[in-house]
Amino acid sequence: MKVLILGAGVVGVSSAWYLSQAGHEVTVIDRQSAAALETSFANGGQISVSHAEPWSNPHAPARALAWMGREDAPLLFRLRWDPALFDWSWRFLRECTPGRTRENIRDIVALALYSRERLKTLREDTGIEYDHLERGILHVYTDPKEFAASIEASRVLREFGCDRRTVDADECVAIEPALSATRPILVGGDYTPLDESGDALTFSQNLALLCQKRGVTFRYGLEVERLLGETGKVTGVRVRTPAGVSELLQADAYVAAMGSYTPQHVRPLGVPLPVYPAKGYSATIPLGEDSVAPSVAMTDDGHKLVFSRLGQRLRVAGTAEFNGYNTALNEIRCQALIKRTHQLFPELRPAGDPVFWCGLRPSTPSNVPYIGRSRVPNLYLNTGHGTLGWTMACGAGSALADIVDGREPPVRLRAM
Ligand SMILES: Cc1cc2nc3c(=O)[nH]c(=O)nc-3n(C[C@H](O)[C@H](O)[C@H](O)COP(=O)(O)OP(=O)(O)OC[C@H]3O[C@@H](n4cnc5c(N)ncnc54)[C@H](O)[C@@H]3O)c2cc1C
Repeated sequence: MKVLILGAGVVGVSSAWYLSQAGHEVTVIDRQSAAALETSFANGGQISVSHAEPWSNPHAPARALAWMGREDAPLLFRLRWDPALFDWSWRFLRECTPGRTRENIRDIVALALYSRERLKTLREDTGIEYDHLERGILHVYTDPKEFAASIEASRVLREFGCDRRTVDADECVAIEPALSATRPILVGGDYTPLDESGDALTFSQNLALLCQKRGVTFRYGLEVERLLGETGKVTGVRVRTPAGVSELLQADAYVAAMGSYTPQHVRPLGVPLPVYPAKGYSATIPLGEDSVAPSVAMTDDGHKLVFSRLGQRLRVAGTAEFNGYNTALNEIRCQALIKRTHQLFPELRPAGDPVFWCGLRPSTPSNVPYIGRSRVPNLYLNTGHGTLGWTMACGAGSALADIVDGREPPVRLRAM
């Protein structure tokens, strides 16, 4: 079957890999000049089953209110006239009940576990390189209340199959010696040994090369303008080339994987997709020979930050801001990343200035993505992976290939 994938982020490229493995004739298009130049460009780098608790949880409404208006807040809703944000926020609130949270965690853990396995197999089969480390993920806490809450969160995750175990402050330092200087402020942590880290940009671009070797076509610089529909199916995609020429692309099946920009393209076909951009920041810090930086990936839950070692760089990422499609860098939010990094790693000694970046996580109210056949039979969705798109990409791509071929995927998925 001819499959046209719209979007060459980590999700679109992973979909291309598994669909081509299944024998389909795949073309991927993207408006950028290469794969993964938007949200998959400089994310937190974590393959993190242990980070499955969604933002929408019973503590979220009180926290979001308390942080409202604080420029350096980890989670910031900016009040603005935006019907899509109102609708999304209302749905988000409905996902904050204990029952909904538990169900969402169960589905997120299942997909993330499956995805981590698929990534491992892909690595073994292809030898793909992307600065990856298999040293687990350590969550650290400096606030006793946050640590106390994490004990119950870890218990729930273990119940669903994620091996996240609670550790004391001394164990945190034993797992990651770069925390030695911070020992006095640590109150405890939890550790998930099978979680991983790696560079999503390098992965996506190297996987795109492997796809090309298998016969997948990538066409860059094409802006998707409109999906055309007739008699209940997609009949083509109208794109614009860099020279401004309009072109019609046609296939048997279409996969919408345009991250945060997917909703506006599928809505006219009668597919309402509650995906809203959640802006996040990262700083990439170059490291020298004498830098004291972690190599175990870490999460600072209290500040909603993650740390990943990517070769001779430390990636610090996190925070979320609901402010539409605005991708301007806010200096206060950039500096908040650096300030906290130096609190946790006072002996870091960077080898140069940090490089700041921000991206728009394609977020659903529940943080459970939409993967599968849409209401329009030949239109498939693979979007809404929110905070965990890198973690879920291989599992989502593999499961989508199952669905396209009429097989039941091994994990429960939600589509529209
Ligand atoms: C600060 C931050 C930290 C994060 N940390 C982690 C982490 O540690 N672990 C993790 O698992 N996840 C993390 N994430 C989330 C993860 O990065 C995303 O979920 C993931 O990158 C989404 O991938 P995607 O392919 O769906 O979207 P994208 O990477 O945005 O890809 C969509 C593609 O569609 C293209 N496109 C869009 N519109 C059009 C159009 N009209 N025409 C043509 N092409 C179009 C874009 O150019 C883009 O290449 C983080 C995100 C952020 C912002």
